[in-house]
Amino acid sequence: MTDDPRRPRIGVLAVQGAVRPHVEAIRAVGGEPIEVRLPRDLVDLDALILPGGESTTMRKLIDAYGLREPIASLARGGTPLLGTCAGMILLAERIADGDEPVFPLLDLEVRRNGYGRQLDSFEADLDVPALGEAPLHGVFIRAPFVTDVGPRAEVLARDPDGTPVAVRQGRILATAFHPELTDDTRLHRLLLEMVGRGAGHPA
Ligand code: GLN
Repeated sequence: MTDDPRRPRIGVLAVQGAVRPHVEAIRAVGGEPIEVRLPRDLVDLDALILPGGESTTMRKLIDAYGLREPIASLARGGTPLLGTCAGMILLAERIADGDEPVFPLLDLEVRRNGYGRQLDSFEADLDVPALGEAPLHGVFIRAPFVTDVGPRAEVLARDPDGTPVAVRQGRILATAFHPELTDDTRLHRLLLEMVGRGAGHPA
């Protein structure tokens, strides 16, 4: 079904990366997924997801397709965003080791692939009080390592070693892991709940 006016229209940046699982998660929580490749795909979106993938490739394609300014402008206008893994890197204000930030919107510093070789990919049950009592299963794939969280961002979850892996700042959510790779849709539901609502926390 498309163009159902009652269903929130949730964009998924679809220039590269793990798009399909987000599309399915949005459907599962009752949203209408819109794959975003060009600026015109951003029109009338209620929220936007920046998926996992390869942030260096995504950054190039975002610029090649002229998406940087229109996405930044959506965020300035208060449209909720969710960035997962590479998406978190795209949203970070600070990237360790010199990379230029893309949408500097989140008061945190990340190090790309910062979990190191032995933990290249791993899974962990995460305590996320904002999502209720049941732990959220986190799938980490060459995940960014959050090296610092500033006062404007709120930590929603930490890995078993205490490193932040999910944050919220105003209407922006970001995770170092891939919430779209499990059947647990609570994070996508949280994004939908942020649609059309005043920001609980000023950005
Ligand atoms: N390692 C990737 C990067 O630096 C992110 C990996 C992912 O999104 N699964 O962009």
